[in-house]
Amino acid sequence: MTAHIIDGNALSQKLRADVTGRATALKAKGITPGLAVLLVGDNPASQVYVRNKVKACHDCGLHSVLEKHPESLSEAALLERIAALNLDPSIHGILVQLPLPQHIDAQKVIEAIAPAKDVDGFHIASAGALMTGMPGFWPCTPYGCMKMLESIGYDLKGKHAVVLGRSNIVGKPMALMLLQKNATVTICHSATPDLKAMTLQADVIVAAVGKRNLLTADMVKPGAVVLDVGMNRNEEGKLCGDVDYADVAQIAGYITPVPGGVGPMTITMLLVNTLEAAERL
Ligand code: NAP
Repeated sequence: MTAHIIDGNALSQKLRADVTGRATALKAKGITPGLAVLLVGDNPASQVYVRNKVKACHDCGLHSVLEKHPESLSEAALLERIAALNLDPSIHGILVQLPLPQHIDAQKVIEAIAPAKDVDGFHIASAGALMTGMPGFWPCTPYGCMKMLESIGYDLKGKHAVVLGRSNIVGKPMALMLLQKNATVTICHSATPDLKAMTLQADVIVAAVGKRNLLTADMVKPGAVVLDVGMNRNEEGKLCGDVDYADVAQIAGYITPVPGGVGPMTITMLLVNTLEAAERL
């Protein structure tokens, strides 16, 4: 079997066209959806991420503000900036690029963002909303994975989904979203003794660990859907996921590539969340 590829770039293009249309409709009513992106320090990867986010806003007709602060910015000063943006009517979404420098408490900063502007979905109120099935912002990466499953018309009801990784930003919210769609969910992590025994039972596998070739073909049930969230570099410095792509693609029914899979979907869902923050006003 050769897996069908779920193309994150193509799906993103479709969803971003929808965002552009809805943003135009909002603008006709005098509201331009606006995103503030805060970067502290000069982490090269973070600089690329924020640049891509701002460009994506621009491409879809959203207003965006990129605030670059020096590494030395104090926690108090960052909290002050967030307080000001919480009150700024031109800003509907606030994103603080992680990681933050050591001297800043990231959780405290996230909690300072008004839940109505928490378009990254990391605030404890957003996490609680997801947990209880209430309206709120879903973290962009797992939300993008759900959109990918939706794009292939995949019905999760009665299926077994195995999530590799339990971080607050990917693994845990991913598991809750799958659960909400009636999958039976198993969450694996670094203390799971036999990963293969779990993944072999899975109809859907989401790999979100950050270890290259963690998921190999012998760990996958024929026909399973494999979503690869991982972002790693191989020996040549090329971007790759957690999945041994070439071999797993021979076994799986559907697979997401890296690059061109979950990555572009993450930014797309940030745009969707920002647009929805403005629409909810
Ligand atoms: P993280 O916070 O480091 O979490 C990694 C998780 O993997 C942890 O729960 C850890 O378990 C688990 N783990 C570690 N070794 C394992 C093993 N051998 N078997 C099973 N589980 C294991 O990472 P993250 O922020 O969730 O990100 C995960 C990956 O996704 C990274 O490569 C990251 O770069 C990528 N990512 C991609 C996007 C995107 O847009 N494509 C967005 C976000 C993240 P413990 O909890 O027990 O330590």
